Amino acid sequence: MISPPAQRPTALDAARLDAADPLAAHTAKFVRDGDVVSYLDGNSLGRPLADLPQRFDRFVRHDWGERLIRSWDEQWMERPFALGDRVGALVGAAPGQAFIGDSTTVLLYKLVRAAADAQAAAGRTEIVVDDDNFPTDRFVVEGVAAERGMTIRWIAADPAAGVALEQVREAVSERTALVLLSHVAYRSGFVADLAGITAVAHEAGALVLWDLCHSVGVIPVELDASGVDLAVGCTYKYLNGGPGSPAFGYVAARHHDALAQPIQGWMGAADVFAMGPRFEAAPDRRRFVSGTPPVLATVALEAMLELVEEVGMPALREKSIALTDFAEALLAEHVLPLEVGGRCAALASPPAGPHRGSHLTVTHPSFRAVNARLWQRGVVPDFRAPDGIRIGLSPLSTTFAEVELGIAALGEELRGQDRPAA
Ligand SMILES: *Cc1c(COP(=O)(O)O)cnc(C)c1O
Repeated sequence: MISPPAQRPTALDAARLDAADPLAAHTAKFVRDGDVVSYLDGNSLGRPLADLPQRFDRFVRHDWGERLIRSWDEQWMERPFALGDRVGALVGAAPGQAFIGDSTTVLLYKLVRAAADAQAAAGRTEIVVDDDNFPTDRFVVEGVAAERGMTIRWIAADPAAGVALEQVREAVSERTALVLLSHVAYRSGFVADLAGITAVAHEAGALVLWDLCHSVGVIPVELDASGVDLAVGCTYKYLNGGPGSPAFGYVAARHHDALAQPIQGWMGAADVFAMGPRFEAAPDRRRFVSGTPPVLATVALEAMLELVEEVGMPALREKSIALTDFAEALLAEHVLPLEVGGRCAALASPPAGPHRGSHLTVTHPSFRAVNARLWQRGVVPDFRAPDGIRIGLSPLSTTFAEVELGIAALGEELRGQDRPAA
């Protein structure tokens, strides 16, 4: 049994941290109903904003119900690009390069294929990706490599850290077409050296595609300043767009001419309403869009963008760091000292600092069962096979109090694994 110290340090006092948090008032702007007492999975599905019923009501009654097809001209045709610019601004993209589109998976496919095709023409036949990247990223690369007769060059990533610059330097060569990596590793939360890796890939003549799913809306990114070629990212994680809200893509303006994506559709044509006999790609980012955009699925995203823009990325990153540091201290107090079934829980995330994103992963062989018990009591992190519990800390919607409650519960449930079931 671990008994808390009589006088706990201020750094571990959730009530004081919430009282001193300049962003505390925003946590009440999200739906917080129901049985959940600690939501630690905003990195997988952000909570909905509480004013969404009014926004959807207005969308249905006015934008859709009253304006009907006229809304396409009035705002919907431009919506993928207007929202794209706003999401782009959060990741350091000047206007004209980002767009809202399909799912992350489909956008990954379109951009990986576009890059692979352009580079194959220059005799480049390898795609570099790491073996700990999110499944969809690896699977898309496998598919494109098979389709185009290319070779995959796997980087063996340290699961508790991530892909190091030196590994990329060793992997790239005059054969490399594309390097695809996640900026923040979905398991460990490791933040890769985006600018450094991009430069190393460019020295070898490769293009780079960054997956920003666990970065956008929580960690400042400088796509333009870092010379990045391509990027994609989710909007339902830290941008709270809701289940199935569309991903965004980014193609640096210098590549618009040379890259052709494989799903040619009428919305990507130079003159959408010409209805011409042959496809001619739009000269700008519109060429990366295929068909009708999922407008309805962007209503919640737009609401969250307003809030994120109001608060600003620096303040978001600051609170994200405070929450992550707090969670780490609580894990050290409640979870890491426990030995259960002959094994201690271990932190599988980087130490505090610039290489740590907004989530932490802790591992223990009994965590699948522990996670199920936590969900029953309204404490909701997520489980990532084989043995990780992931604690995501979404800065606008998470209180220090719920982090404390959740991690204390994690300690209790882990300890409970030592006792025979009642
Ligand atoms: C969440 C996530 C995805 C999700 O892809 P979908 O097409 O939206 O299901 C892809 N890649 C990474 C790195 C992710 O974290």
